[in-house]
Amino acid sequence: MIFNKNLKYAVGVDLGGTFVKVALISELGDIFFKNLLPIGSDATKDIILDTIEKIILITIDQADEHALNVIGIGIGTPGIIYKGVLYGGADNLKGWENIDLATHYSEVFNLPVQVDNDANLMGLGEFYYGAAKGCTDTVCLTVGTGIGGAVIANGALYGGFKNRGAELGHIVVEHNGPPCNCGGQGCLEQYASTTALIQRYAKLSGMDVKNLNGHYIVEKYHENEPYAIKCLQEQTNYLGHGIAAFINIFAPQKVVIGGGISDAGQFYIDMVSAAATKYMMSDCGGHTEIVGAQLGNAAGSLGAAALILKSAATT
Ligand SMILES: [Zn+2]
Repeated sequence: MIFNKNLKYAVGVDLGGTFVKVALISELGDIFFKNLLPIGSDATKDIILDTIEKIILITIDQADEHALNVIGIGIGTPGIIYKGVLYGGADNLKGWENIDLATHYSEVFNLPVQVDNDANLMGLGEFYYGAAKGCTDTVCLTVGTGIGGAVIANGALYGGFKNRGAELGHIVVEHNGPPCNCGGQGCLEQYASTTALIQRYAKLSGMDVKNLNGHYIVEKYHENEPYAIKCLQEQTNYLGHGIAAFINIFAPQKVVIGGGISDAGQFYIDMVSAAATKYMMSDCGGHTEIVGAQLGNAAGSLGAAALILKSAATT
C-alpha cells in the first residue's frame, strides 16, 4: 500500500443488521484498512455503540501508524437520521433509536462526525466514486431483501423535510396489492425485491423458498427455463415501472441498480432498462442511463467517508 501523507483521510462506517464494516478512505476514494466486526442478533444499544467505537479505534490506530491525516468519521446506519441523531426505524437492530450518534462519537474521538441513512450513503458512494461519478442528478436503488433508495439532486442527497423521505421501495405499483410492513399496500418492493422474485418463483415452480436464491433463478433463466423467464420478466417489468416514475419526477442522468441482483449481469440491466424506457415520459428520461452499481459492498463505507471528505473539499 502506498500512502500519500498530503491527502486527507476519513473513517467510513457501514452498520448493517449483522456486521459493522469500517474502512479508511482517502480523499481520492482509495480504500485502506478494511475492518469488520459481527453484531449479534441479541446485541443491545450499548453493545452496538461499543462495537462501533472499538472498530473505529482499530482503524484510527492503523492510520496513526502511518501518520495519516484523519479529518473525521462518517457513519451509515439503518433508520431515520436527521442532523446526526438516529430517531428509529432500524427494524433489525433492537433498541437502536433515539441516539445522538454524531455528538457521542465526536466526543469519544474528538473528530467531526457525520451520520446518514445506509441506503442514502450507498447511493452517495456510487455518486462520488462509482457508477454515477461525474453526475449531478442520480437515483440509486438497492434491490435485495427489500428495496432501498437514494436520490441525489443538484449534487446533494435529497431526503425531504427532516430527511424522512426517499423511501423509493415504497411507491405503489399495484393499488390493490398485498399489505406492506410500511403500512401501505402494493409497494414496489413487494413485486421487485429479490424476496419477491424468490417467492414468485417458488409459487410457480412448487419449490421451497428455502432452497432458492436469486443466483439460482438467474442460472435457470440462462437455461431458458419457463418459470425463471416468467419471474424475471415480471420482476424487471415492475422495477421498470418504478424507475419510470422516478425518472418522471427527478430526470436523473443515471439510475444505478445495486444489491445482489445487479450481479446477474448486463442482460438484467438491459431488461430493466427496456421496461423503464417503455413506461417513462421520453422528455424526462431522454438523458437517463440505467446502469449497474460498481462498488459492491464497499459503497456504504465510501459514501459515509464522503460525508466528511466532500464537505471538507467544498469549504
Ligand atoms: Zn411499503
